[in-house]
This record gives sequence, structure tokens and C-alpha cells, in this order.
Amino acid sequence: MKKAILFTTILFSICIGANQTLIAQNTKAATTLSKDEQKVMDYIDANMPRAIALLKESVDINSGTLNIEGVKKVGAIFAREFEKANFKTKWVLMPDSLRRAGHLVASIGFNDEEKTAASSKTKTNKGKKLFLIGHLDTVFEPDMPANPFTMLNDSTATGQGVTDMKGGDVVMIIALQALQAQGLLKDANIIAYLTGDEEHAGYPREVSRGDFIETAKQTEIALAFEGANGLNSVATARRGASGWLLNVKAKTGHSSGVFTAGAGYGAIYEAARIVNEFRVQLSTEKYLTFNPGVFIGGSEMNYDETKATGTAIGKTNIISPAVTVTGDLRFLTEEQKINARKKMQAIVDNSLAGTKATIHFEDGIPSMAPTAGNDKVLELVSGVTKDMGVGPSTAGDPGSRGAGDISYIAAYVDCIDGLGSSGRGAHAPGETINLKELPYLIKRAALTIYRLSK
Ligand SMILES: [Zn+2]
Repeated sequence: MKKAILFTTILFSICIGANQTLIAQNTKAATTLSKDEQKVMDYIDANMPRAIALLKESVDINSGTLNIEGVKKVGAIFAREFEKANFKTKWVLMPDSLRRAGHLVASIGFNDEEKTAASSKTKTNKGKKLFLIGHLDTVFEPDMPANPFTMLNDSTATGQGVTDMKGGDVVMIIALQALQAQGLLKDANIIAYLTGDEEHAGYPREVSRGDFIETAKQTEIALAFEGANGLNSVATARRGASGWLLNVKAKTGHSSGVFTAGAGYGAIYEAARIVNEFRVQLSTEKYLTFNPGVFIGGSEMNYDETKATGTAIGKTNIISPAVTVTGDLRFLTEEQKINARKKMQAIVDNSLAGTKATIHFEDGIPSMAPTAGNDKVLELVSGVTKDMGVGPSTAGDPGSRGAGDISYIAAYVDCIDGLGSSGRGAHAPGETINLKELPYLIKRAALTIYRLSK
């Protein structure tokens, strides 16, 4: 058989207005993978039916965040699969007060103290310690309509959490099994951490994410398997999420006196001024968003923060004495968050006559800020996709992603997200996974893990 690598030169032109640019690109029809890497690719192709079976098995168990038994069952299935790849597994329990199932942790290399000690002495160019992130829960609780795993056509399937993120978990697991089957994890130090409450993390977060953060600190690079966005894109940054609560108190009185120095403006005008001024001053800042979710005011009102509900009674001839508004605040960096809060505070402090407002900010999930370290990992992923013959990879738009578990540890390690499965409609009934892209994404994950860890 002829062993020569085929070089194909693809010429294609892009026409932008009157300018025509010719781009010549050499792509190797036979990819530039090593022998070992090619074996990993072949293993993945051969094991796709098993990957789909594992996806179906995990999707058909309801694991809504609050369904503790369901989350544990899915954890047991994935633990069994990690063990097939010679990973050691353990379950991290949460205190009962959190009402969460806990987390699955699987590791290889780290537990072998002698090996770690021996290799750390001789180790100079050895592989990176990796932290792989998945989650076991979904947004679909048992009282929501069931949606068992169903093939919609030859390349699309639906099911609860089929892509967010049981599909991503399967990408991670089959990739690791493929590497293990070729004996390529001998020197690897990998911890896979699959949380049981990503969609609705237990409070306090110091408890529900404490072990997660401490464990990640033992590693150097985190790879998260949340939804992939096409074949040539990964996330090097994610926005963080936080909240705010605005309370306005005002003098009340007959409506006929409103706008006068004596009666003042009332709480509703003041709250409207503040919220509108937030929009005017801050809405054009890139990657910054804030959205009022509840706005309640009247002559009598109350707001229940735990249930995000409230009631109001008011008459048109009474100046409103109280308003409560709650909202979120999403940001790309801590600095952006702090600056936005300062501006919001200044707007709140600039009270109309007869009113007094206070705003309370609450931290939620930190952001995964873009860093040079993250870009370096992207470069490696890009090398992988090039060598697979599908071209380079770029960083996705951080504005298009919400917050995720990886953000809790982004301050400590280099991070990439979006290495999981691709699909549509995450968090909505009828969520789908793209099964045509799945083998490609498993291969991308396997090569990325291998090249980083060897
Ligand atoms: Zn998710």
C-alpha cells in the first residue's frame, strides 16, 4: 500500500464587495496525526454505538438538580464508565441542609503518590495536570413533562439534558476510554469533576463549590465540556453573573402635591429614574448587561426574595412610598463588575426630592476572564483541529455564554470551555444533540487531553 501523504491544495476565493482575495490553503488529505493518535481516532469511530447507548442510558434517568436520587444514579453510571478507563472514583457528599446530591470525582495519576513523587523529580517537559469539568444534573425536574431519548432523524436526538450536558459528559468519558485503550494515560494526571448541581448550585456556594475549587487548585489546566459551538470554536472566556436588589422609600401623600418640594416625587418615579439611568449610562458597555426582573411599587407592597414574588396595592391619588426592584448583572471581568457597581451606586445616591434609595449587590458566579494562559490552550486546541484536517479553531464570543462551573476556578488555572457536544435548545423542552458532529467532538477532546497530558 502506498504510504505517501496526499497533499491537496484547495483554492477558494472570497469576494467582498469589489475586492477579490485568493486564499491558497494546503490541507493534508491524510491528517497529520501520530500513529497512536490515529488509533485513538479509530477506537472512537468503532465505539460510537456504545457512546450513543451511554448517552441514552444517562438521559433516560431524570436528574433534575433537586432530584437527589436521580443525580446519584446518573453519577453511578458515569462512575462505572470512568472505572473502565482505570480512573478511581469517589462521591463528594453535600450536607443535608443544601438539599443537593453531591458530586462525582474521578481521577487518574494523582492517587499514585510514588509515581507522582518519582515523576516530579525527573519531570521537566511532562504533561500538564488536568481538571475536566462536567455536570450530572439538568434543569428538568421530575414534575416536568418527560422526554425520553428519541432519535428525531439519523443525525439528531432529543432528551432531557441530551446536550446540556450528558452529551458533554459522554464526550469526556469516551475520549478518556479511547486514550486508556491505547495505553496513553500512563503519565497522565487527570481529575474529572462532575458536579451534581451546576444548574442550581446549593447555598452557600462556599460549601457547594468548596471541594470543587480546592481540587482544581491541584491542577494546571481546566477543560469544561459544556456545549460546543460548531467544530472550530471553544470558549476562552465566560461572563459572570451577580444580582442586585434596589429598595426605594419615599414620603407619601396626596397625588396632587407630587413634584413639589414638600411632597417630593414618590418612590415609583425615583425607581423609574434609577433603572432608566442604569440603561442610559451603562447599556452600551461591551459584555455588560443588567436586567430588572421584578419591579413592585404602590402604597402598600411586599416582596418575598426567596420566592421572587410580591404583591402591591395602590391608588392613583396616593404618592407611592415604596418600590423594590431586583435584577441581575453580568460581566466579563471583576474590574468591569466593580466599575458597574460604582456607577450604579452613584445613580442610586442621586435621589429625587423626598426619596431615599439603597441598592444591595450580591455576588453569584464569578466570570472566566480572558487570559493569555487561556489563549495558549486555545492554540493547542487549534493545532488539534488543524491536524484533524478541519482547520484552525478560534475563541467564541463570551457574550453568547452564561456563567458556568468553570468560572469558580478561572482565577486559579488556565481554562477552556465548550468542549462538549453540540446541539440546540439547552434548558428548553425538546433540547437536541447533533450526532453527526459528536464523533468529531469526541476526537477533538481526546487529542486535546492527550497532547496536554503527555
Ligand atoms: Zn450545562
